[in-house]
Amino acid sequence: MEIVRGRAPEGTPTQVRADTFTGTVWGDPVLPATDGTTIGSVTFTPGARTFWHSHTDGQLLVVTAGLGWVCTEGGAPEVVRAGDVVWVPPGEQHWHGGTTETIMTHLAVSLGPTVWADEVAQHDYLSREGS
Ligand code: MN
Repeated sequence: MEIVRGRAPEGTPTQVRADTFTGTVWGDPVLPATDGTTIGSVTFTPGARTFWHSHTDGQLLVVTAGLGWVCTEGGAPEVVRAGDVVWVPPGEQHWHGGTTETIMTHLAVSLGPTVWADEVAQHDYLSREGS
């Protein structure tokens, strides 16, 4: 058994996630990657989100703070808030992030490799508004 107290091991600085994210995104590795599973806490500032991507073996998101959006390809962004749990099936194209006005932090348990695609266009990011 291993108990992680709140975030990454002491002395591990919070990472800035840039290459496959839009806006300012911070990441804390919660547990080291084992057998292809990555477990991290990710905070999206307002307006920040992932690029479009999928997870080879799926992904579990547990929203731990704030209010954000998740979106599956072909759908509209849906609101998630602290306490919500999202299961993304293997291979499903999607993105997740904050709303335009709020931060969102989630624990992300990613199973297998992440396959990154294009940036989420502003028009698609805002497609919930006015709908
Ligand atoms: Mn994902």
